Amino acid sequence: AKGAGRDRVHLFTRELRDAARWRLEVATKLADPATYDQLEVHYQPIMHLPSGKASALEALIRWRHPERGLMMPDSFIPVAEETGAVVPMTRWLLDEVIRQTTEWAVEGVDVSVGINISACHLSSGTLVADVRRALSAHDLPADHLVLELTETSIAEDPVRGGEQMRELVAMGVRLAIDDFGTGWSTLARLLAMPMDTLKLDRSLLQGVCASDGVDVMSAIVALADSLRLRSTAEGVETLDQLRMVSEAGCDYAQGWLFARAMPAADLGRWMKARV
Ligand code: C2E
Ligand code: CA
Ligand code: CA
Ligand code: CA
Repeated sequence: AKGAGRDRVHLFTRELRDAARWRLEVATKLADPATYDQLEVHYQPIMHLPSGKASALEALIRWRHPERGLMMPDSFIPVAEETGAVVPMTRWLLDEVIRQTTEWAVEGVDVSVGINISACHLSSGTLVADVRRALSAHDLPADHLVLELTETSIAEDPVRGGEQMRELVAMGVRLAIDDFGTGWSTLARLLAMPMDTLKLDRSLLQGVCASDGVDVMSAIVALADSLRLRSTAEGVETLDQLRMVSEAGCDYAQGWLFARAMPAADLGRWMKARV
């Protein structure tokens, strides 16, 4: 039994050592352009359903490793993100993908192309310059480039990230929210419970642009309706917000516009004054 335990420890330390070695290899190799001839870009078509045409592509990276064979992104992208190697890798990828897509355009294949951008690239501060350089090296119209960002990477650094996103959009580049819905898995699980009411957080009312706010709120209220949940808007402080909440179709509203929380005696009086 003692021997078995020791074997397990040996196995465990060997796994740790292998993982550490792989991390080091990813960190150094993927940060080094000399390795990039081992990288392959695969493209998956995206169909425009009304026309039935493949109008767009998504670029997906693979690593043709000399010893390990064809590596899928899940086995090296997370490590490359942690170590920052994904930034120089993506710089290369932008150039390669834009070059290839421009070549297809010359051959009469008119498609836009999506590239996956990691959160650390967005916060590194070099993304805008990297994209601008790659676009100016080739003749692809900027609106043929779509940068795919995940919900979490967009939310991670809203100030710096938002600034870069606005600059990219000003250049004509398009942005996609990738993996939308994954952050909702807990919500989906919650909604499977026998709930009666969905209470909308007051942050929804604090959006800078009230007209967008109504759209978001309407969508959430529609979701609540379809699940037969009542909807309550929290944090209603102004008449404008009340108008917005009613426009969105909320069933209930709660907030300082009507009353603050108060002690029982006051509450009793408050209620009696309104009957
Ligand atoms: P995949 O090619 O294995 O890529 C997996 C994930 O690695 C991608 O998920 C993306 O997050 C990341 N990734 C790939 N290339 C890059 C890159 O160049 N840079 C960075 N930073 N990350 C990269 P994502 O974006 O959701 O891509 C869609 C995945 O789903 C791809 O897997 C694709 O091959 C796969 N897929 C497409 N259609 C289907 C399908 O019908 N069924 C299934 N099960 N998978 C599908
Ligand atoms: Ca993607
Ligand atoms: Ca995706
Ligand atoms: Ca609350």
